[in-house]
Amino acid sequence: KPPKHIKNEPVKLFGNTDSKDWDLLRASLMKFKSSSLEVPLVINGERIYDNHERALFPQTNPANHQQVLANVTQATEKDVMNAVKAAKDAKEDWYKLPFYDRSAIFLKAADLISTKYRYDMLAATMLGQGKNVYQAEIDCITELSDFFRYYVKYASDLYAQQPMESADGTWNRAEYRPLEGFVYAVSPFNFTAIAANLVGAPALMGNTVVWKPSQTAALSNYLLMTVLEEAGLPKGVINFIPGDPVQVTNQVLADKDFGALHFTGSTNVFKSLYGKIQSGVVEGKYKDYPRIIGETGGKNFHLVHPSANISHAVLSTIRGTFEFQGQKCSATSRIYLPESKSEEFLSDMFGILQQQNVVPVNTSASPISGGNLRGFMGPVIHEQSFDKLVKVIEDAKKDPELEILYGGQYDKSQGWFVGPTVIKAKRPDHPYMSTEFFGPILSVYEYPDQEFNTICDVIDKTSQYALTGAIFAKDRKAIEYADEKLKFSAGNFYVNDKCTGAVVSQQWFGGARMSGTDDKAGGPNILSRFVSIRNIKENF
Ligand code: GLU
Repeated sequence: KPPKHIKNEPVKLFGNTDSKDWDLLRASLMKFKSSSLEVPLVINGERIYDNHERALFPQTNPANHQQVLANVTQATEKDVMNAVKAAKDAKEDWYKLPFYDRSAIFLKAADLISTKYRYDMLAATMLGQGKNVYQAEIDCITELSDFFRYYVKYASDLYAQQPMESADGTWNRAEYRPLEGFVYAVSPFNFTAIAANLVGAPALMGNTVVWKPSQTAALSNYLLMTVLEEAGLPKGVINFIPGDPVQVTNQVLADKDFGALHFTGSTNVFKSLYGKIQSGVVEGKYKDYPRIIGETGGKNFHLVHPSANISHAVLSTIRGTFEFQGQKCSATSRIYLPESKSEEFLSDMFGILQQQNVVPVNTSASPISGGNLRGFMGPVIHEQSFDKLVKVIEDAKKDPELEILYGGQYDKSQGWFVGPTVIKAKRPDHPYMSTEFFGPILSVYEYPDQEFNTICDVIDKTSQYALTGAIFAKDRKAIEYADEKLKFSAGNFYVNDKCTGAVVSQQWFGGARMSGTDDKAGGPNILSRFVSIRNIKENF
């Protein structure tokens, strides 16, 4: 049985800036700002530095792109080979370790994160991934430690499930083996917690892991690796190999013992890996059918009904769209407003946006490097992302079917800043209503009030992704209608709440269609993807 006290880690609010919390946080921020650390590979428990043999990737502060936070060692072909071998070699000892011993390591890691390493984790995530303190708390402290703690609880429930019946003189039992082979985890930049989910879920179930973190999150991810080691993770169980994504992935997927992909990232990359793995199966490359578990993008919707509480819908939309600079798979990125309420909604929204310390466009006071650690928005992650968002804004200016209603500013003089932007589309099937931007840009369509039912159909038809969505309404019939019509348009559906912010154990997170395999991070089901059940019948 897992400890009884498992509950969601509370978010620390970092109120008074004179507090001890702030002093500790400032000290950690200073530490990472003043030294550009070399992030090594960790293979079989050994740290491997460049030694003039390997390339280094400079991880910079997105709020101040001249500042190199870390030089990230890039895995060579030989390193990848060694990481795969280490994962295979560590496997047997690891899965033979009793479940409660494996669990203790993850419970201890969660405690270390929320105590001893809290400020370092926050600082590494804030500086490296462009978050304010509140966003970092939600990510790399609460969600991260929740993943570890709840997975221990869910795994314990799963292992307890046994066949119901055994005829006289026989005994049937289920053995929850790990998968054969090793798991390849590919983690994204936007959430440190997601990396913890990607490596933690398979490892807890007795698998060993080759982990390729995002280059732009290497600092916080390396810290997570060291915390797991300090918590007692045996060598070789998780092998940390940042590097060139294509080179590393091609090599890993070529191994016959590749047993599963656990992925969060872009739809295009996931599609291509999915294809590669399937052709590998057809070519007879692998021993097993590798499991493919992935979560990718979204074009998540807010649907506002004329009966909605407008000020609540406005605040929810501001948070859903612009928090985390919209760099969440779940971020609100399109909204459908009834014509009768549209003006009220938008003028409320723009009024609030104007009062926010939203984005320091054309100022040097970035939320992170300038000392304002609580600014509502920060930078987007890197130049490619900045350029892509600028193109979305510039293309919108030229398109007669689009109108920029708010924002459209950007500034890269110091950091990758894109201001909150709202773009109106004149038709609901315009590509801006279905294309993911992954940034602080909201597409709006105004629908005639009497066409609420039609707009539900349109939303479903234009949802190539199906990650998250929300309906705002007081009218119960409208809620029920949308709930039914949009059944397959979102894996996480919210009624009168923003479509972001799933909490581990409370809202299991994930979507279908092009958003992923809907295996639900933060819920119990995902763990079953990392076990292969053996049924044993014994006669006496
Ligand atoms: N689970 C987060 C949420 O519900 C999103 C994480 C992601 O971007 O994948 O907002």
